[in-house]
Formats: sequence, structure tokens, C-alpha cells
Amino acid sequence: MEAMGRTEDTDVVVIGGGLAGLVAANRAAELGKRAVVLEKGAADKYICNSRYTYGTFHINFNDVMAGEDKLYATIVACTDGFARQDLAHTVARYGARLMQWLRAEGIELTNLGQYHTNVLSPAWRSGAGFKWDGYAGDVTLQKLEANLKKRGGAILRGTRASALKLAGSGIEIQAAEPEGAVSFTARAVVIADGGFQANMEMVREHISPAPEKLLPRHGGTATGDGLRMAQAIGAAVTGMANFYGHLHSRDAMSNPLLWPRPQADDLAAAGIVVDAQGRRFADEGLGGIYLSNAIARLADPLGTIAIFDSAIWDGPPGRGHVQPPNPLLPEVGGTVHRANSIEELAVLAGLPPQQLKDTVDRYNKAFDAGTLPQLSPPRSGPHKPWPIKAAPFFAVPICSAITNTMGGIVVNGDAAVIDVNGKPIPGLYAAGSTIGGLNGGPTSGYVGGLINATVGLRAGDVIGGFNG
Ligand SMILES: Cc1cc2nc3c(=O)[nH]c(=O)nc-3n(C[C@H](O)[C@H](O)[C@H](O)COP(=O)(O)OP(=O)(O)OC[C@H]3O[C@@H](n4cnc5c(N)ncnc54)[C@H](O)[C@@H]3O)c2cc1C
Repeated sequence: MEAMGRTEDTDVVVIGGGLAGLVAANRAAELGKRAVVLEKGAADKYICNSRYTYGTFHINFNDVMAGEDKLYATIVACTDGFARQDLAHTVARYGARLMQWLRAEGIELTNLGQYHTNVLSPAWRSGAGFKWDGYAGDVTLQKLEANLKKRGGAILRGTRASALKLAGSGIEIQAAEPEGAVSFTARAVVIADGGFQANMEMVREHISPAPEKLLPRHGGTATGDGLRMAQAIGAAVTGMANFYGHLHSRDAMSNPLLWPRPQADDLAAAGIVVDAQGRRFADEGLGGIYLSNAIARLADPLGTIAIFDSAIWDGPPGRGHVQPPNPLLPEVGGTVHRANSIEELAVLAGLPPQQLKDTVDRYNKAFDAGTLPQLSPPRSGPHKPWPIKAAPFFAVPICSAITNTMGGIVVNGDAAVIDVNGKPIPGLYAAGSTIGGLNGGPTSGYVGGLINATVGLRAGDVIGGFNG
């Protein structure tokens, strides 16, 4: 790597100014280190998933204050044992600590009930479409940036890191800033660039044969730079095939009012999801995040339809969410077919009528007999199955929306990047959605998005010499 243009030496360079990066930088700065954040977004309110976030800290939809042992067991269970044990312990232990630390930073967390006990404030939870300006993540990033500056740190906007090189007692970071090339040397580097969901080729390689047919439910900024840079100096990666996402009306591909809410997850997980041939292809009982992944893997991710009845539409799956598909989805232009028979519904939805009727009949019969787990594909839990018997019947064409990748750079419980031989790479850390080994496993187990910032807090602790 040639040193070109301006050069700068500092204690810590953080790549990415999302929540994970700003937590790591602030914590290291609090412990006396000079931290410089490189952020490729040039705007004052540069876009990233942390700016867009709804702001609920949770661990697999559990209160982060539920206690380390319970949370650790939850992480292991929801990922079917995929999560690294050391990392799972850190996340379970640091969940409560991160909430305390954020509060001490002056960040307001509100309790909205259920598992939404620690939500970045002000929270926005009504209507359809998108509002982020002046809400949860936006306010939080501004506050953390101000704190970093007060601690002598800096965030360099419009500065995109492109390469790393291990250099004696530190790491060289090559980047481009608006004025040209710039390079840094630092004793520690934290990669926190948010994953690779915005890199079509990487998504095609690891997640879906047709990435252009997934709804980008993200800021468009996570292009896999950190992963590429880390791999170039020997880092291991894991769990690349899974992502965190939701099901939306297929119309959301062209209608921005239909994302990031309302979702169609609860409708799909209560009824069935069929492909263009009218056949089930995945276990709906595993929920919307799992189904989003299953749909993304199909040859045509835009060919699936959720089928359900009026008991589902008018009951908790349709109306229970704070931003419910009934009535929001049709109100803002999402297609909802309804008919008094399954055959008529099939005609409206462009599905083969006899095949759809056979699929629904088989499902209802298994429901009545209590043999849903014996169906092919099986229908299991944790989401409660509903029969599809109460006319009118409904068909909602859906799409798979990708929010952030679950796979990525392998880190241990100290946030240290692990190389392909299983050894930590000296001085190199990673945090946030760029890491792998926490979320994922065979059922796309979702531990959480924001909670990955605990790994940033741990990185800051370790870099600053705090052994908490
Ligand atoms: C609509 C929406 C709602 C959500 N709601 C929730 C929720 O309620 N709860 C939850 O747990 N999760 C939620 N999430 C997910 C959560 O917001 C993310 O998992 C989390 O914010 C990721 O943080 P991060 O710091 O890892 O990445 P990001 O916030 O994406 O930040 C990464 C930053 O790195 C920068 N960057 C990238 N490449 C480079 C480079 N080469 N050089 C310099 N900078 C670079 C990017 O520009 C970006 O600013 C939601 C996401 C969305 C989109």
C-alpha cells in the first residue's frame, strides 16, 4: 500500500459513523484515546441504517435488561447454536451496560412496552411510510458526534476507507477524502461500516440469485468495504447467506409509502405463503425474517403471495401491530385481493386455481388433524398457525426486503477480528452489522441490529484498556 497525499497518525481509526462506530469511538475517547471516525457520507445528516432505525434495542425480541444468563440462552436458542459463545456472552452481558452508557451520554431511551423497553427517543410509530429526520437514530447520532468532538475526537465526512495494512505496532488505513488520497496510522482500527446489503454483487454471491428483486430496506450505504478490507489482510468471515429483513407488499418495490412499515410478516406467518405455482415452499411458522430469507433464495423472489382469511386479516395478525397492515396496506396503495372462494382468489391473484385450492385444503386438513409439522415443507413454530376457512379469503403479493446482512467478519468476545487460522489480528476490531457469528444459523435467527453496538462498546473498552 503506497502512502499518498495527506497522512495522519492517531490512536484509533473507526471506519463508519453509524451507531456501532460512534459508540466504539466515544468509549475509546472516554478512556483517553484519540479517535478519528472515517465516514464516507458527505452530508451533515449522512444516511446509514443507524439514522433510519426505529430504535428498539432488543435481543431476539427480549428486553435487554432480562439478565445475562437468560439472554445468552436466548441467543444460542434463536440461532440454533450458530452464534459464537464468547460473542454471545459479550452481547448478553453488555446489553444492559450499553443502555446505561447511552443514558450517561445524554441519549434518551423510552419504554414503549412489550420488548420495546429501551427505544431511542423520540420514537416514531404511526402511519405508513418513513420518517427519520429528527427521530430516534438521527438524534442519537448527532449527540454521539457532539460528544466525540468534546472528547477531542473527530468525524471526517466524505472520507471512504479502502485498504488496511498491518504495519509494525499499528495499522495503516488508506482512504479517499474530498481533497484526494489520505492515509492514517493507528494503534487500533474498528471496522463498523454496516455490512454488505447495498452491494448487489455480494448479495448475489451470498444471498439471492436476483438481488435486484429484493426491496432495499436500508440506507444504501453498506457496500461491504469493511469485509473486503478485512479479508484482504486475512480475516475470516462467517454466516454470509443470512440477512435481517421483512416481508412487504410487492408494491413497495415502487411505492415508498409501503416501507419500512407496514410489514406483511404477521399475515404471512399466520396463514401460508405460496409461489407462482400456488405451492408452499417454506415453513411459515418460523416468521417473517426467516421467510424473507427463504424468498430471497428463490429463482424469482418477486413471485410469492401470502394467503390468509378474514379471521387473520381482522384479528391480531392483521391489526395487532402498532403500524398494522389492516388498514394501512390498502390505504397507501398495497394490492389486497379478496374473494369468497379460494378458486376465485386464485384467479384474481394470477395463481393456478386448482393447485391453490389443493394447497389450502391440505394445510387446513393438517391444521385440523394437528399434523402441520408433517406437511412438506413442515409448518412449525414459534408463530401460531391459523386455519384458512373464514371467507372472504385474501391474497397479498409480497416481496422480500433486506435491511442488513447477518454474516460478516468473525470477531471474538473482545471484538477482535479473527483471522482464517483462528487467531486475533493485532489491533483490528469490528462491530455492528459488519460482524458475523452473532445473528444467523439455519433458521436465520435474529438476535438484533442495534444490539451489535454492544460489540462497539466492548471494542472501545478493550482499546482503552478497560477490563470490565
Ligand atoms: C428502517 C429501519 C428500522 C430499523 N429498526 C431497528 C430496530 O428497531 N431495532 C434494531 O435492533 N435494529 C433496527 N434496524 C437495524 C439497525 O438500524 C442496524 O442494524 C444498525 O443501525 C447498524 O448500525 P451500524 O453502525 O453497524 O451500521 P450503519 O448504521 O449502517 O453505519 C455504517 C456507516 O459506515 C459508513 N461506511 C460504509 N463504508 C465505509 C467506508 N468504506 N469508509 C467510511 N465509512 C463507511 C456508512 O456510510 C455508514 O454511515 C433498523 C434498520 C432500518 C433500516
